[in-house]
Amino acid sequence: MVQPDISFKERYFLFIGGEQMPPSTDEYISSYDPATGDSFTEIAVAGSRDVDEAVSTARTAFESWRNVSPEKRGRIVHRIGRKIRDSTDELAAIECKDQGKSISQAQSDMRGAWRYFEYYSGVADKLEGQSVPVGSDQVDFTLREPYGVSAQITPWNFPGNLFARGVAPALVAGNTVVVKPAPQTALSTLRLAKLCSEAGLPEGAVNIITGTGESTGQPLVSHPDIDTITFTGSVTTGQSIMKHAADTVTPVTLELGGKNPAMVFPDAPLDRTAESIASAIFTNAGQVCSAADRLLVHEDIHDQLVDRITSIVAEYEIGPGIEDPDVGPLASAEHKNRVLEYIAIGKEEGATPLLGGNALDRPGYFVEPTIFTDVQNDMRIAQEEIFGPVLSVISFRDEEEALSIANDTTYGLTAGIFTNDITRAHRLARYLEAGNVYVNKWFGDTTQTPFGGYKHSGIGREKGLEALDSYLQTKNVAIDISEEGSGTLPGA
Ligand code: NAD
Repeated sequence: MVQPDISFKERYFLFIGGEQMPPSTDEYISSYDPATGDSFTEIAVAGSRDVDEAVSTARTAFESWRNVSPEKRGRIVHRIGRKIRDSTDELAAIECKDQGKSISQAQSDMRGAWRYFEYYSGVADKLEGQSVPVGSDQVDFTLREPYGVSAQITPWNFPGNLFARGVAPALVAGNTVVVKPAPQTALSTLRLAKLCSEAGLPEGAVNIITGTGESTGQPLVSHPDIDTITFTGSVTTGQSIMKHAADTVTPVTLELGGKNPAMVFPDAPLDRTAESIASAIFTNAGQVCSAADRLLVHEDIHDQLVDRITSIVAEYEIGPGIEDPDVGPLASAEHKNRVLEYIAIGKEEGATPLLGGNALDRPGYFVEPTIFTDVQNDMRIAQEEIFGPVLSVISFRDEEEALSIANDTTYGLTAGIFTNDITRAHRLARYLEAGNVYVNKWFGDTTQTPFGGYKHSGIGREKGLEALDSYLQTKNVAIDISEEGSGTLPGA
Protein backbone atom coordinates (compact mmCIF):
# COMPACT_ATOMS: atom_id res chain seq x y z
CA MET A 1 0.00 0.00 0.00
CA VAL A 2 1.60 3.33 -1.08
CA GLN A 3 1.30 5.99 1.61
CA PRO A 4 1.38 9.78 1.15
CA ASP A 5 4.38 11.49 2.66
CA ILE A 6 2.99 13.33 5.68
CA SER A 7 5.05 15.87 7.53
CA PHE A 8 3.93 17.07 10.93
CA LYS A 9 4.36 20.57 12.30
CA GLU A 10 6.33 21.14 15.48
CA ARG A 11 3.16 22.25 17.23
CA TYR A 12 -0.53 22.63 16.45
CA PHE A 13 -2.68 25.59 17.47
CA LEU A 14 -6.41 25.82 18.13
CA PHE A 15 -8.79 26.31 15.20
CA ILE A 16 -11.28 29.10 15.93
CA GLY A 17 -13.22 31.15 13.39
CA GLY A 18 -11.29 29.56 10.54
CA GLU A 19 -7.92 30.69 11.98
CA GLN A 20 -5.09 28.82 13.69
CA MET A 21 -4.89 30.44 17.12
CA PRO A 22 -2.22 29.95 19.80
CA PRO A 23 -3.78 29.14 23.18
CA SER A 24 -4.11 31.86 25.82
CA THR A 25 -2.48 29.43 28.30
CA ASP A 26 0.73 29.23 26.23
CA GLU A 27 0.73 25.53 27.17
CA TYR A 28 1.25 22.54 24.89
CA ILE A 29 1.26 18.79 25.40
CA SER A 30 3.14 16.13 23.47
CA SER A 31 1.60 13.74 20.98
CA TYR A 32 3.23 10.30 20.96
CA ASP A 33 3.54 7.73 18.22
CA PRO A 34 1.98 4.59 19.78
CA ALA A 35 4.15 2.35 17.60
CA THR A 36 7.40 3.72 19.09
CA GLY A 37 6.48 5.74 22.18
CA ASP A 38 8.30 8.77 20.67
CA SER A 39 6.89 12.27 20.94
CA PHE A 40 6.54 13.69 17.41
CA THR A 41 4.59 16.94 17.85
CA GLU A 42 2.70 19.09 20.36
CA ILE A 43 -0.89 20.24 20.61
CA ALA A 44 -2.19 23.38 22.28
CA VAL A 45 -3.95 23.30 25.64
CA ALA A 46 -7.01 25.56 25.51
CA GLY A 47 -8.07 27.21 28.77
CA SER A 48 -11.31 28.90 29.81
CA ARG A 49 -10.56 32.07 27.80
CA ASP A 50 -10.11 30.03 24.63
CA VAL A 51 -13.31 28.11 25.36
CA ASP A 52 -15.14 31.46 25.68
CA GLU A 53 -13.67 32.61 22.40
CA ALA A 54 -14.63 29.40 20.57
CA VAL A 55 -18.18 29.39 21.95
CA SER A 56 -18.81 33.07 21.14
CA THR A 57 -17.40 32.56 17.63
CA ALA A 58 -19.72 29.59 17.13
CA ARG A 59 -22.65 31.67 18.47
CA THR A 60 -22.00 34.46 15.97
CA ALA A 61 -21.65 31.96 13.13
CA PHE A 62 -24.90 30.28 14.18
CA GLU A 63 -26.90 33.45 13.56
CA SER A 64 -25.99 33.33 9.87
CA TRP A 65 -25.59 29.54 9.33
CA ARG A 66 -29.13 28.87 10.55
CA ASN A 67 -30.40 31.23 7.84
CA VAL A 68 -28.46 29.69 4.97
CA SER A 69 -31.08 28.01 2.78
CA PRO A 70 -31.42 24.28 3.47
CA GLU A 71 -30.51 23.49 -0.13
CA LYS A 72 -27.27 25.45 0.10
CA ARG A 73 -26.49 24.03 3.55
CA GLY A 74 -26.85 20.54 2.13
CA ARG A 75 -24.55 21.38 -0.78
CA ILE A 76 -21.82 22.71 1.50
CA VAL A 77 -22.05 19.65 3.74
CA HIS A 78 -21.86 17.45 0.65
CA ARG A 79 -18.75 19.31 -0.51
CA ILE A 80 -17.14 18.62 2.88
CA GLY A 81 -17.74 14.92 2.23
CA ARG A 82 -16.06 15.21 -1.18
CA LYS A 83 -13.07 17.01 0.33
CA ILE A 84 -12.67 14.28 2.94
CA ARG A 85 -13.01 11.62 0.26
CA ASP A 86 -10.29 13.27 -1.82
CA SER A 87 -8.05 13.44 1.28
CA THR A 88 -8.71 9.88 2.51
CA ASP A 89 -5.10 8.73 2.13
CA GLU A 90 -3.68 11.78 3.87
CA LEU A 91 -6.19 11.63 6.73
CA ALA A 92 -5.67 7.89 7.17
CA ALA A 93 -1.89 8.35 7.35
CA ILE A 94 -2.34 11.03 10.04
CA GLU A 95 -4.70 8.79 12.04
CA CYS A 96 -2.42 5.78 11.70
CA LYS A 97 0.57 7.70 13.09
CA ASP A 98 -1.32 9.54 15.85
CA GLN A 99 -3.69 6.79 17.05
CA GLY A 100 -1.63 3.71 16.19
CA LYS A 101 -4.35 1.85 14.27
CA SER A 102 -3.63 -0.18 11.15
CA ILE A 103 -3.60 1.79 7.94
CA SER A 104 -6.48 -0.31 6.54
CA GLN A 105 -8.60 0.48 9.59
CA ALA A 106 -7.69 4.18 9.31
CA GLN A 107 -8.74 4.15 5.64
CA SER A 108 -12.01 2.53 6.60
CA ASP A 109 -12.57 5.16 9.35
CA MET A 110 -12.12 7.94 6.79
CA ARG A 111 -14.44 6.30 4.27
CA GLY A 112 -16.98 6.29 7.10
CA ALA A 113 -16.22 9.94 7.80
CA TRP A 114 -17.00 11.18 4.29
CA ARG A 115 -19.99 8.90 4.16
CA TYR A 116 -21.52 10.71 7.19
CA PHE A 117 -21.27 14.05 5.40
CA GLU A 118 -22.64 12.59 2.18
CA TYR A 119 -25.54 10.85 3.93
CA TYR A 120 -26.63 13.81 6.05
CA SER A 121 -26.20 16.35 3.23
CA GLY A 122 -29.29 14.91 1.55
CA VAL A 123 -31.40 15.51 4.65
CA ALA A 124 -30.81 19.27 4.90
CA ASP A 125 -33.87 20.20 2.82
CA LYS A 126 -36.15 17.47 4.19
CA LEU A 127 -36.31 18.46 7.85
CA GLU A 128 -40.04 18.94 7.71
CA GLY A 129 -42.41 19.82 10.50
CA GLN A 130 -46.02 18.68 10.68
CA SER A 131 -49.43 20.18 10.20
CA VAL A 132 -51.57 19.32 13.23
CA PRO A 133 -55.38 19.08 12.80
CA VAL A 134 -56.86 20.97 15.79
CA GLY A 135 -60.12 22.27 14.28
CA SER A 136 -61.39 24.88 11.85
CA ASP A 137 -60.64 27.99 13.93
CA GLN A 138 -56.89 27.41 14.29
CA VAL A 139 -53.94 26.63 12.05
CA ASP A 140 -51.33 24.60 13.89
CA PHE A 141 -47.93 23.44 12.67
CA THR A 142 -44.52 22.48 13.95
CA LEU A 143 -41.08 23.77 13.03
CA ARG A 144 -37.89 21.76 13.57
CA GLU A 145 -35.26 24.24 14.65
CA PRO A 146 -31.54 23.90 15.44
CA TYR A 147 -30.49 24.16 19.08
CA GLY A 148 -27.63 26.59 18.41
CA VAL A 149 -24.09 25.81 19.55
CA SER A 150 -23.29 22.11 19.88
CA ALA A 151 -20.36 21.14 22.13
CA GLN A 152 -18.82 17.85 21.04
CA ILE A 153 -16.30 15.86 23.03
CA THR A 154 -14.68 12.94 21.25
CA PRO A 155 -12.46 10.05 22.40
CA TRP A 156 -9.18 8.61 21.10
CA ASN A 157 -10.27 5.32 19.54
CA PHE A 158 -11.92 6.61 16.31
CA PRO A 159 -11.13 10.36 16.41
CA GLY A 160 -11.69 11.36 12.78
CA ASN A 161 -14.66 9.10 12.22
CA LEU A 162 -16.42 10.26 15.38
CA PHE A 163 -15.81 13.91 14.51
CA ALA A 164 -17.84 13.27 11.35
CA ARG A 165 -20.50 11.22 13.18
CA GLY A 166 -21.43 14.21 15.34
CA VAL A 167 -20.53 17.23 13.21
CA ALA A 168 -22.32 16.22 9.98
CA PRO A 169 -25.84 15.92 11.49
CA ALA A 170 -25.27 18.98 13.70
CA LEU A 171 -24.39 21.14 10.68
CA VAL A 172 -27.19 20.01 8.37
CA ALA A 173 -29.66 20.76 11.12
CA GLY A 174 -28.32 24.34 11.21
CA ASN A 175 -26.20 24.22 14.37
CA THR A 176 -22.60 25.33 14.70
CA VAL A 177 -20.07 23.31 16.69
CA VAL A 178 -17.16 23.48 19.09
CA VAL A 179 -15.27 20.17 19.13
CA LYS A 180 -12.81 19.05 21.80
CA PRO A 181 -10.93 15.96 20.63
CA ALA A 182 -9.03 13.68 23.03
CA PRO A 183 -5.53 15.04 23.74
CA GLN A 184 -3.88 11.76 22.67
CA THR A 185 -5.28 11.94 19.11
CA ALA A 186 -6.21 15.49 18.04
CA LEU A 187 -4.47 15.73 14.67
CA SER A 188 -7.06 14.26 12.28
CA THR A 189 -9.73 16.48 13.86
CA LEU A 190 -7.66 19.62 13.23
CA ARG A 191 -7.13 18.56 9.61
CA LEU A 192 -10.83 17.75 9.13
CA ALA A 193 -11.84 21.18 10.42
CA LYS A 194 -9.52 22.80 7.89
CA LEU A 195 -11.12 20.71 5.13
CA CYS A 196 -14.56 21.96 6.25
CA SER A 197 -13.35 25.54 5.69
CA GLU A 198 -11.83 24.66 2.32
CA ALA A 199 -15.19 23.19 1.29
CA GLY A 200 -16.83 26.58 1.84
CA LEU A 201 -18.28 26.17 5.32
CA PRO A 202 -18.58 29.67 6.83
CA GLU A 203 -15.78 30.50 9.27
CA GLY A 204 -16.77 29.84 12.85
CA ALA A 205 -19.28 27.09 12.07
CA VAL A 206 -16.72 24.45 13.16
CA ASN A 207 -14.18 25.29 15.87
CA ILE A 208 -11.61 23.00 17.48
CA ILE A 209 -10.23 23.46 20.95
CA THR A 210 -7.60 20.95 22.01
CA GLY A 211 -6.52 20.10 25.55
CA THR A 212 -7.25 17.79 28.43
CA GLY A 213 -10.59 16.98 30.03
CA GLU A 214 -9.81 19.20 32.96
CA SER A 215 -8.29 22.18 31.12
CA THR A 216 -10.68 22.29 28.19
CA GLY A 217 -13.49 19.70 28.32
CA GLN A 218 -14.88 20.76 31.66
CA PRO A 219 -15.07 24.53 30.92
CA LEU A 220 -16.71 23.65 27.60
CA VAL A 221 -19.47 21.46 29.06
CA SER A 222 -20.19 23.96 31.83
CA HIS A 223 -20.26 26.96 29.50
CA PRO A 224 -23.57 28.85 29.84
CA ASP A 225 -23.77 29.62 26.12
CA ILE A 226 -23.73 26.11 24.67
CA ASP A 227 -27.08 24.60 23.73
CA THR A 228 -26.44 20.89 23.45
CA ILE A 229 -23.65 18.41 24.27
CA THR A 230 -22.56 15.27 22.41
CA PHE A 231 -20.04 13.08 24.21
CA THR A 232 -18.42 9.71 23.52
CA GLY A 233 -16.17 8.16 26.15
CA SER A 234 -16.22 6.60 29.60
CA VAL A 235 -19.22 6.29 31.91
CA THR A 236 -17.48 8.27 34.65
CA THR A 237 -16.81 11.24 32.39
CA GLY A 238 -20.33 10.99 30.93
CA GLN A 239 -21.78 11.19 34.44
CA SER A 240 -19.64 14.21 35.26
CA ILE A 241 -20.79 15.93 32.06
CA MET A 242 -24.44 15.23 32.90
CA LYS A 243 -23.97 16.86 36.30
CA HIS A 244 -22.51 20.01 34.73
CA ALA A 245 -25.23 20.00 32.07
CA ALA A 246 -27.88 19.93 34.80
CA ASP A 247 -26.77 23.38 36.03
CA THR A 248 -27.51 24.95 32.65
CA VAL A 249 -30.31 22.50 31.69
CA THR A 250 -28.41 21.54 28.55
CA PRO A 251 -29.49 18.37 26.71
CA VAL A 252 -26.90 15.62 26.37
CA THR A 253 -26.29 12.78 23.95
CA LEU A 254 -23.96 10.24 25.51
CA GLU A 255 -22.30 7.16 24.04
CA LEU A 256 -20.50 5.46 26.90
CA GLY A 257 -19.18 2.12 25.72
CA GLY A 258 -20.20 -1.42 26.61
CA LYS A 259 -19.39 -4.88 27.87
CA ASN A 260 -20.97 -6.59 24.94
CA PRO A 261 -22.03 -10.25 24.90
CA ALA A 262 -21.72 -12.48 21.83
CA MET A 263 -23.89 -15.60 22.42
CA VAL A 264 -23.01 -18.70 20.39
CA PHE A 265 -25.37 -21.71 20.17
CA PRO A 266 -24.49 -25.23 18.98
CA ASP A 267 -26.34 -24.77 15.67
CA ALA A 268 -24.16 -21.82 14.61
CA PRO A 269 -21.67 -22.41 11.75
CA LEU A 270 -18.47 -22.67 13.78
CA ASP A 271 -15.78 -21.56 11.32
CA ARG A 272 -17.66 -18.47 10.24
CA THR A 273 -18.59 -17.64 13.83
CA ALA A 274 -14.98 -18.00 15.01
CA GLU A 275 -13.83 -15.54 12.31
CA SER A 276 -16.56 -13.07 13.31
CA ILE A 277 -15.75 -13.24 17.02
CA ALA A 278 -12.02 -12.84 16.49
CA SER A 279 -12.49 -9.68 14.45
CA ALA A 280 -15.27 -8.46 16.77
CA ILE A 281 -12.87 -8.29 19.71
CA PHE A 282 -9.41 -7.72 18.20
CA THR A 283 -10.20 -5.08 15.55
CA ASN A 284 -8.53 -1.76 16.45
CA ALA A 285 -6.73 -3.66 19.24
CA GLY A 286 -10.04 -4.00 21.05
CA GLN A 287 -10.44 -0.23 21.47
CA VAL A 288 -13.98 -0.28 20.16
CA CYS A 289 -17.02 0.57 22.27
CA SER A 290 -19.13 -2.02 20.42
CA ALA A 291 -16.50 -4.83 20.56
CA ALA A 292 -17.56 -8.36 21.56
CA ASP A 293 -15.61 -8.52 24.79
CA ARG A 294 -17.72 -11.24 26.46
CA LEU A 295 -18.06 -14.50 24.51
CA LEU A 296 -20.94 -16.58 25.90
CA VAL A 297 -20.67 -20.07 24.41
CA HIS A 298 -22.84 -23.14 24.87
CA GLU A 299 -21.00 -25.82 26.88
CA ASP A 300 -21.40 -28.44 24.09
CA ILE A 301 -19.30 -26.41 21.63
CA HIS A 302 -17.14 -24.46 24.06
CA ASP A 303 -13.86 -26.26 23.39
CA GLN A 304 -14.31 -26.47 19.63
CA LEU A 305 -15.14 -22.78 19.25
CA VAL A 306 -12.40 -21.61 21.58
CA ASP A 307 -9.86 -23.79 19.70
CA ARG A 308 -10.88 -22.26 16.40
CA ILE A 309 -10.72 -18.69 17.67
CA THR A 310 -7.37 -19.36 19.32
CA SER A 311 -5.86 -20.77 16.15
CA ILE A 312 -7.03 -17.72 14.15
CA VAL A 313 -5.64 -15.26 16.69
CA ALA A 314 -2.36 -17.14 17.15
CA GLU A 315 -1.59 -16.33 13.51
CA TYR A 316 -2.25 -12.60 13.88
CA GLU A 317 0.54 -10.22 12.99
CA ILE A 318 1.19 -7.56 15.60
CA GLY A 319 3.07 -4.43 14.59
CA PRO A 320 3.06 -0.70 13.77
CA GLY A 321 -0.16 0.49 12.12
CA ILE A 322 1.68 1.59 8.99
CA GLU A 323 2.68 -2.06 8.30
CA ASP A 324 -1.02 -2.91 8.24
CA PRO A 325 -0.93 -5.60 10.92
CA ASP A 326 -3.92 -7.51 12.31
CA VAL A 327 -3.35 -5.88 15.68
CA GLY A 328 -1.59 -2.55 16.25
CA PRO A 329 -0.47 -0.85 19.45
CA LEU A 330 -2.80 0.65 22.03
CA ALA A 331 -3.36 4.39 21.78
CA SER A 332 -1.31 5.55 24.78
CA ALA A 333 1.12 4.39 27.45
CA GLU A 334 -1.53 5.10 30.10
CA HIS A 335 -4.05 2.90 28.32
CA LYS A 336 -1.52 0.09 27.80
CA ASN A 337 -0.95 0.06 31.57
CA ARG A 338 -4.69 0.02 32.21
CA VAL A 339 -5.17 -3.02 29.94
CA LEU A 340 -2.23 -4.86 31.54
CA GLU A 341 -3.74 -4.17 34.96
CA TYR A 342 -6.98 -5.81 33.84
CA ILE A 343 -5.05 -8.84 32.56
CA ALA A 344 -3.41 -9.14 35.99
CA ILE A 345 -6.83 -8.82 37.65
CA GLY A 346 -8.21 -11.63 35.43
CA LYS A 347 -5.38 -13.93 36.53
CA GLU A 348 -5.93 -13.05 40.20
CA GLU A 349 -9.65 -13.68 39.84
CA GLY A 350 -8.94 -17.25 38.69
CA ALA A 351 -9.66 -17.00 34.96
CA THR A 352 -7.39 -19.08 32.70
CA PRO A 353 -5.17 -17.06 30.32
CA LEU A 354 -5.32 -19.36 27.31
CA LEU A 355 -3.50 -17.05 24.90
CA GLY A 356 -1.39 -13.89 25.18
CA GLY A 357 -1.50 -11.92 28.40
CA ASN A 358 1.69 -9.88 28.04
CA ALA A 359 3.07 -6.65 26.69
CA LEU A 360 5.40 -7.08 23.72
CA ASP A 361 9.08 -6.64 24.49
CA ARG A 362 9.61 -3.73 22.11
CA PRO A 363 9.09 0.07 22.16
CA GLY A 364 5.53 1.30 21.73
CA TYR A 365 2.28 0.34 23.41
CA PHE A 366 1.81 -3.26 22.25
CA VAL A 367 -0.21 -5.84 24.19
CA GLU A 368 -0.73 -9.40 22.90
CA PRO A 369 -4.23 -10.46 21.92
CA THR A 370 -5.42 -12.23 25.05
CA ILE A 371 -8.08 -14.89 25.61
CA PHE A 372 -9.34 -15.82 29.07
CA THR A 373 -11.45 -18.94 29.62
CA ASP A 374 -13.16 -20.11 32.85
CA VAL A 375 -14.52 -16.60 33.31
CA GLN A 376 -17.45 -16.10 35.70
CA ASN A 377 -19.76 -13.23 34.87
CA ASP A 378 -19.28 -11.57 38.26
CA MET A 379 -15.52 -11.21 37.73
CA ARG A 380 -14.25 -7.69 37.07
CA ILE A 381 -12.90 -8.72 33.66
CA ALA A 382 -16.49 -9.67 32.72
CA GLN A 383 -18.12 -6.56 34.16
CA GLU A 384 -15.74 -3.64 33.49
CA GLU A 385 -14.86 -2.22 30.11
CA ILE A 386 -11.22 -3.16 29.39
CA PHE A 387 -11.21 -1.52 25.95
CA GLY A 388 -8.29 -3.60 24.77
CA PRO A 389 -7.45 -6.89 23.02
CA VAL A 390 -8.87 -9.10 25.78
CA LEU A 391 -11.64 -11.67 25.26
CA SER A 392 -13.46 -13.19 28.26
CA VAL A 393 -15.08 -16.56 27.52
CA ILE A 394 -18.04 -17.70 29.64
CA SER A 395 -19.81 -21.05 29.25
CA PHE A 396 -23.61 -21.47 29.45
CA ARG A 397 -26.00 -24.44 29.58
CA ASP A 398 -29.17 -23.18 27.90
CA GLU A 399 -30.83 -20.17 26.30
CA GLU A 400 -32.30 -18.91 29.54
CA GLU A 401 -28.94 -18.88 31.28
CA ALA A 402 -27.29 -17.23 28.26
CA LEU A 403 -29.82 -14.40 28.28
CA SER A 404 -29.49 -13.90 31.99
CA ILE A 405 -25.67 -13.68 31.78
CA ALA A 406 -25.87 -11.38 28.73
CA ASN A 407 -28.11 -8.90 30.53
CA ASP A 408 -26.27 -9.12 33.86
CA THR A 409 -24.17 -5.98 33.33
CA THR A 410 -24.69 -2.27 33.87
CA TYR A 411 -23.90 -1.70 30.18
CA GLY A 412 -26.19 -2.20 27.18
CA LEU A 413 -24.58 -1.08 23.92
CA THR A 414 -24.35 -4.07 21.57
CA ALA A 415 -25.07 -7.82 21.70
CA GLY A 416 -24.79 -10.66 19.22
CA ILE A 417 -26.57 -13.97 18.64
CA PHE A 418 -24.98 -16.72 16.57
CA THR A 419 -27.55 -19.39 15.68
CA ASN A 420 -29.33 -20.88 12.69
CA ASP A 421 -32.62 -21.00 14.63
CA ILE A 422 -34.58 -17.98 13.45
CA THR A 423 -37.17 -18.15 16.23
CA ARG A 424 -34.44 -18.17 18.87
CA ALA A 425 -32.75 -15.22 17.17
CA HIS A 426 -35.97 -13.16 17.20
CA ARG A 427 -36.82 -14.16 20.75
CA LEU A 428 -33.43 -13.21 22.12
CA ALA A 429 -33.17 -10.00 20.07
CA ARG A 430 -36.33 -8.85 21.81
CA TYR A 431 -35.13 -9.55 25.35
CA LEU A 432 -31.49 -8.46 25.08
CA GLU A 433 -30.92 -5.18 26.92
CA ALA A 434 -28.83 -3.50 24.23
CA GLY A 435 -29.32 -0.69 21.75
CA ASN A 436 -27.87 -2.74 18.87
CA VAL A 437 -28.30 -6.47 18.31
CA TYR A 438 -26.40 -8.38 15.61
CA VAL A 439 -27.43 -11.82 14.37
CA ASN A 440 -24.80 -14.11 12.77
CA LYS A 441 -22.44 -11.17 12.31
CA TRP A 442 -20.78 -8.40 14.33
CA PHE A 443 -20.48 -4.65 13.70
CA GLY A 444 -23.79 -4.55 11.84
CA ASP A 445 -24.10 -0.76 12.14
CA THR A 446 -23.89 1.51 9.12
CA THR A 447 -24.18 5.25 8.64
CA GLN A 448 -27.94 4.83 8.22
CA THR A 449 -28.65 2.74 11.33
CA PRO A 450 -29.30 4.28 14.75
CA PHE A 451 -26.58 3.50 17.28
CA GLY A 452 -26.54 3.99 21.04
CA GLY A 453 -26.91 2.38 24.40
CA TYR A 454 -29.37 1.04 26.94
CA LYS A 455 -28.62 1.42 30.66
CA HIS A 456 -25.20 2.94 31.47
CA SER A 457 -24.14 2.76 27.82
CA GLY A 458 -25.72 6.08 27.11
CA ILE A 459 -28.55 8.43 26.22
CA GLY A 460 -29.82 9.23 22.73
CA ARG A 461 -28.82 7.82 19.38
CA GLU A 462 -26.07 8.63 16.88
CA LYS A 463 -26.15 7.74 13.16
CA GLY A 464 -29.18 7.39 10.94
CA LEU A 465 -32.04 9.85 10.86
CA GLU A 466 -32.57 9.41 14.59
CA ALA A 467 -29.32 11.27 15.30
CA LEU A 468 -31.01 14.44 14.08
CA ASP A 469 -33.16 14.42 17.23
CA SER A 470 -30.03 15.49 19.14
CA TYR A 471 -29.66 18.57 16.96
CA LEU A 472 -33.25 19.74 16.37
CA GLN A 473 -35.89 20.99 18.76
CA THR A 474 -39.58 21.22 17.95
CA LYS A 475 -41.53 24.45 18.05
CA ASN A 476 -45.32 24.35 17.78
CA VAL A 477 -47.03 27.38 16.20
CA ALA A 478 -50.78 27.92 16.83
CA ILE A 479 -52.63 30.62 14.80
CA ASP A 480 -56.16 31.71 15.52
CA ILE A 481 -58.09 32.12 12.24
CA SER A 482 -61.60 32.40 13.70
CA GLU A 483 -63.56 35.56 13.01
CA GLU A 484 -64.34 36.25 16.67
CA GLY A 485 -61.33 34.79 18.51
CA SER A 486 -61.53 31.28 20.02
CA GLY A 487 -59.91 32.03 23.40
CA THR A 488 -59.14 28.49 24.64
CA LEU A 489 -58.02 28.04 28.27
CA PRO A 490 -54.69 26.44 29.24
CA GLY A 491 -54.93 22.68 29.65
CA ALA A 492 -57.76 22.35 27.12
P1 NAD B 1 -12.68 9.80 28.94
O1 NAD B 1 -14.12 9.48 28.88
O2 NAD B 1 -12.19 10.43 30.19
O3 NAD B 1 -12.26 10.76 27.73
C1 NAD B 1 -13.03 10.96 26.57
C2 NAD B 1 -13.01 12.44 26.21
O4 NAD B 1 -13.56 13.19 27.28
C3 NAD B 1 -11.62 13.02 25.96
O5 NAD B 1 -11.72 14.00 24.94
C4 NAD B 1 -11.30 13.69 27.29
O6 NAD B 1 -10.33 14.71 27.20
C5 NAD B 1 -12.67 14.25 27.66
N1 NAD B 1 -12.88 14.52 29.09
C6 NAD B 1 -12.30 13.89 30.14
N2 NAD B 1 -12.76 14.40 31.30
C7 NAD B 1 -13.66 15.37 30.99
C8 NAD B 1 -14.50 16.24 31.74
N3 NAD B 1 -14.51 16.21 33.07
N4 NAD B 1 -15.31 17.09 31.09
C9 NAD B 1 -15.33 17.10 29.74
N5 NAD B 1 -14.56 16.32 28.96
C10 NAD B 1 -13.74 15.44 29.58
O7 NAD B 1 -11.89 8.46 28.61
P2 NAD B 1 -10.35 8.10 28.89
O8 NAD B 1 -9.94 8.46 30.28
O9 NAD B 1 -9.55 8.62 27.78
O10 NAD B 1 -10.44 6.49 28.78
C11 NAD B 1 -10.92 5.77 29.90
C12 NAD B 1 -11.83 4.65 29.48
O11 NAD B 1 -12.96 5.19 28.81
C13 NAD B 1 -11.26 3.65 28.47
O12 NAD B 1 -10.45 2.70 29.05
C14 NAD B 1 -12.52 3.08 27.91
O13 NAD B 1 -13.01 2.07 28.75
C15 NAD B 1 -13.49 4.25 27.92
N6 NAD B 1 -13.62 4.86 26.56
C16 NAD B 1 -14.75 4.62 25.88
C17 NAD B 1 -14.89 5.11 24.60
C18 NAD B 1 -16.13 4.86 23.80
O14 NAD B 1 -16.06 4.83 22.58
N7 NAD B 1 -17.28 4.72 24.42
C19 NAD B 1 -13.86 5.84 24.02
C20 NAD B 1 -12.71 6.11 24.76
C21 NAD B 1 -12.61 5.61 26.04
